[in-house]
Amino acid sequence: MDNLIDYESTLLDHHLPPFTDYKGLAKDGIRIISNASGNYIFDNEGNKILDAMAGLWCVNIGYGRDELAEVAKEQILRLPYYNSFFKTNNIPAANLSKKLSEITPQGLNHTFFANSGSEANDTIIRMVRHYWALKGEPQKRIIIGREYGYHGSTIMSASMGGMVDMHNQAAKENDFHHIPAPYSFKYKGNQSEDLFAETSSNWLEEKILELGKDKIAAFVAEPIQGAGGVIIPPNGYFEHIQEICKKYNILFIADEVITGFGRTGEWFASQKMNLSPDMMTLAKGLTSGYIPMSAVMVGEKVANTFIEEGGEFYHGFTYSGHPVAAAVALENLNIIERENLITKVSSETIPYFASKIKALNDHPLVGEARSFGLLACVELVKDKSGPELFSNVGETGMICRDFCIQNGLMMRAVRDGMIMSPALTITKNEIDEIINKFEIALEQTMKKII
Ligand SMILES: *Cc1c(COP(=O)(O)O)cnc(C)c1O
Repeated sequence: MDNLIDYESTLLDHHLPPFTDYKGLAKDGIRIISNASGNYIFDNEGNKILDAMAGLWCVNIGYGRDELAEVAKEQILRLPYYNSFFKTNNIPAANLSKKLSEITPQGLNHTFFANSGSEANDTIIRMVRHYWALKGEPQKRIIIGREYGYHGSTIMSASMGGMVDMHNQAAKENDFHHIPAPYSFKYKGNQSEDLFAETSSNWLEEKILELGKDKIAAFVAEPIQGAGGVIIPPNGYFEHIQEICKKYNILFIADEVITGFGRTGEWFASQKMNLSPDMMTLAKGLTSGYIPMSAVMVGEKVANTFIEEGGEFYHGFTYSGHPVAAAVALENLNIIERENLITKVSSETIPYFASKIKALNDHPLVGEARSFGLLACVELVKDKSGPELFSNVGETGMICRDFCIQNGLMMRAVRDGMIMSPALTITKNEIDEIINKFEIALEQTMKKII
């Protein structure tokens, strides 16, 4: 059935995939992933590939779960859709918001639903505007983020539309500024970890003072930066950051789209790292990617202001709180609980994964191999001493990535860092398989680049 389609011409003639150089794609061709099971994906040529990325950091419970298909089918038959604009709600969305308030850090008790991480972050930007306007400080508009921070790709969509009420709560020029990431591999040099935690968090204070402290609305950060290359902050970094946010009365937003739902060995990295965000972004692992859904967790300070002060929040999506997505999300969370995945991951899988990643530091091509929970990055370098990086950034990473795929291993390259983010269901044998295949790819890469 599927196989009758002429994939090559169909895709190149009609489908424009995201984050793609279309000219390059026309030259290289495209791989069709046709089915998946457990932690493996299969392409239409019959290749079996171990998925060390859990899709795109999202398939936390692995592929092929009947339960999710069952609840989706049941919910589609019962109530496939109804909006929540007309003072209406549906049962799965109501139950999911209750469940999320139980598993997220204390104080985050309200949920606003959207369909993607990008939309959830757009929602947060508008909420931040709404909050400071209600507080009588509408000049607080600037949101400070970080170099290599990734928060999605739709941020400015509302500004392109013509709804004036929405514009006032949306983005203007100069609303976003960035500080360097706490990227030890790049910036730490000879500093101790404690000192680097101070230096790198002070970048926030310097930026606040540079821009004017009464204009700053919020600081946003992924606890571990994912798409930026699995950047793990030094111990103490967020402690300082949170003090600075308090000192200047700015909201602290944790984007947990990747780090949520067990990936760090707790429900959320905020719990693991002792963070108390005012708002939190959730997506990806919320449904394990089986169906699109995202959520903004809103803390008491912000939610109570909305509820007490009133004034319409001009924002929402047709599919906010979609009943089928919410039913799938709830069952996904049930599975994580029923199978004790978080305990299992923190007591067994993460320590095993960490020891295997650490051992890669001995390889001549590896400048640094680091991991946090089930997130890892292996930085490839030209010369370990120094270390000396490759001058043509990204080329070696791409070569290594292609060898990985050829060997039946799906990994991602960010610059020359090789990224892993396996499912919570990854077994020790599968971790061994990842490492074996990756080591072969490292050898092949070395041969090719000298
Ligand atoms: C993927 C990601 C997003 C964007 O999510 P989409 O569903 O792709 O819009 C936002 N923040 C982080 C940290 C992400 O990793």
